[in-house]
Amino acid sequence: MNEFEIINKYFNFASHTAILGIGDDAALISKNKKEYTAISTDTLNLDYHFTNQSDPYYLGWKSLAVNISDILAMGGTPKYALLSLSIEKLDKSWLAKFSKGLRACAKNYDTEIIGGDTNKGSKSISITIIGDVNKNNVLKRDALKANDELWLTDEIGYAALHFQQSTIPKKDKKKISNCLKKKCCNEFLKPSLPFNFINDAKTFINAAIDLSDGLAGDIKHLCQKNGYGAKVELNNLPIHKWFVDSKHYEIALAGGEDYQILFTASRKHHNKILNLLKIHNHKGSMIGTVTKTKEISYFLDGSSYNLKKDGHNHFA
Ligand code: ADP
Ligand code: MG
Repeated sequence: MNEFEIINKYFNFASHTAILGIGDDAALISKNKKEYTAISTDTLNLDYHFTNQSDPYYLGWKSLAVNISDILAMGGTPKYALLSLSIEKLDKSWLAKFSKGLRACAKNYDTEIIGGDTNKGSKSISITIIGDVNKNNVLKRDALKANDELWLTDEIGYAALHFQQSTIPKKDKKKISNCLKKKCCNEFLKPSLPFNFINDAKTFINAAIDLSDGLAGDIKHLCQKNGYGAKVELNNLPIHKWFVDSKHYEIALAGGEDYQILFTASRKHHNKILNLLKIHNHKGSMIGTVTKTKEISYFLDGSSYNLKKDGHNHFA
């Protein structure tokens, strides 16, 4: 059973009053004539998402950033957050650095921490985020259309390459430059969210999802779950040359923790989106199209490509 089967079997509660319940990056509830309130929660756990060696400053930053990513994927603006923290023992130095990172991220995205909960237990950081979404620009996953173009906001694969380095064969590992290693580490610790780009592009976007579990899995949540499929051109993927040269497409596609956004838009907006990507200095690209048939198919150099690994599964 993967996490989505668990959610489906045990927690698929129906909502009678929410505008949007379980199944998207955030739930939506009614706010006023113009806006919805978006709510979402995400957790980072010791030994799974981070270790005792992880820099607490970046942990503080990342724990909020991954939540802001979900609000962004709804086309929203983050407003408030609540922090639920479990720690094994009082470690003032860790707490001071963690708090500093959290505060810096909150300031950067204009979000206020307005509450939380503190407990003794195995280290775990859970944040609930609340944001506003303009009713005219909601980016729901089910708003995609057949023949929409599929886009990525920026490069993917860096975080996955950072935490999968020990599994890479020596001959390929040797080709990872120090500069690439640094970029991977930076993206893992402090994911760069496509915040300003999405804010500018959301009027052109039909549907969106943020990439937390890897493109290969999240594309299914966006397309297949809504009765569609996709054709993906691996030659168009915004990935570092190392993935192409070493043919480690699976790391970039199934590794996870990218926090870039996969979105769909009508072909008529193609040039406007390209232009906005350029303005925001993003290396994002159009990676394929939404199809009426439910299959997700990958192509490389004009031939069909059999993906050996799917998106990340917490319970694999
Ligand atoms: P994301 O990766 O965007 O944070 P998830 O993959 O964690 O989203 O969850 C998918 C959907 O399932 C979301 O709408 C989320 O709110 C919902 N969900 C996840 N876990 C639970 C749970 N234990 N109970 C109810 N809903 C859940
Ligand atoms: Mg999400």
